[in-house]
Amino acid sequence: MNRASAPRIAVFGSVNMDLVAYVDVAPASGETVQGREFRQIPGGKGANQAVAAARAGAEVAFLGAVGDDAFGVQLRTTLVDHGIEVSGLRTVAGTSGVAHIVVEGDGANSIIVVPGANGTVTALREGDIQLLDGVRALLLQLETPMSGVVAAARAGRSLGATTVLTPAPARPLPPELLECVDVILPNQHEAAAITGQDDPERALAALLETVPEAVVTLGADGVLYGRRGADPVRVPAVRVEPVDTTGAGDTFCGAFAVARAEGRDPETALRFAAKAAALSVRRHGASTSMPTRAEIDAF
Ligand code: ADP
Repeated sequence: MNRASAPRIAVFGSVNMDLVAYVDVAPASGETVQGREFRQIPGGKGANQAVAAARAGAEVAFLGAVGDDAFGVQLRTTLVDHGIEVSGLRTVAGTSGVAHIVVEGDGANSIIVVPGANGTVTALREGDIQLLDGVRALLLQLETPMSGVVAAARAGRSLGATTVLTPAPARPLPPELLECVDVILPNQHEAAAITGQDDPERALAALLETVPEAVVTLGADGVLYGRRGADPVRVPAVRVEPVDTTGAGDTFCGAFAVARAEGRDPETALRFAAKAAALSVRRHGASTSMPTRAEIDAF
């Protein structure tokens, strides 16, 4: 795809270094166990969505923060290597965001997230408005402080971007955020936590009382999409043999935003995103598993 015609997208959010230890059984308090393998994987929902959108064909700017430690340098380099504009990625004193992940033999995991620099992104900073000016879509998540997410959503809305919120980790959503959100994109667990409705159709209806468009992702069952005043639409997942579903939702979100920013209608954008997410679940990892535009178009 011709980069000159690539739509511009901004992502405001988190970037973490995931430190993953693979063990047979996780240690109990006070216990030491020997692990089988260790992997250090760049992550964070914001960074993952940025990589997904860049690989799916957008010109992406990332707004967030890393610490002044070695992880900060590596995280910045990873984004740059994906062609992402990082002038909005600040380096602040202290540690970068880190996720300590223990994966047990049966695949169960336990995670400690230390927000580090992500916790400093409480407002827009100098230069952020210029970065947001002219973007077609702005992607937001909730791994950074709410005050910053609200400020970014407001700026994105006033500059004419389509604002897309992934409400993860799920928490109560203040009205001042919802009034600046065009599309909300939770998975079914987040949708249930936010609306109190376990049934996805009911959760979708409840979400549409607060924002104009909603997409509830249902894992291997695809997605449920709704727009205020129209009948809900179900788009099936693309059938694949899953290897690792980590990051499927972020891949879906990044690809969906690219297709929408290119002017595709919602259903076409959902089918494009479903192909991207299916390709990602066939491979290990989150950002490492995200497909390129050529791979999505050829699938
Ligand atoms: P999250 O990763 O945020 O929990 P989901 O598990 O709902 O989100 O997955 C997001 C999207 O990824 C789904 O709507 C679907 O399109 C795709 N997906 C997830 N799991 C599979 C799977 N096993 N096979 C095919 N597609 C999948």
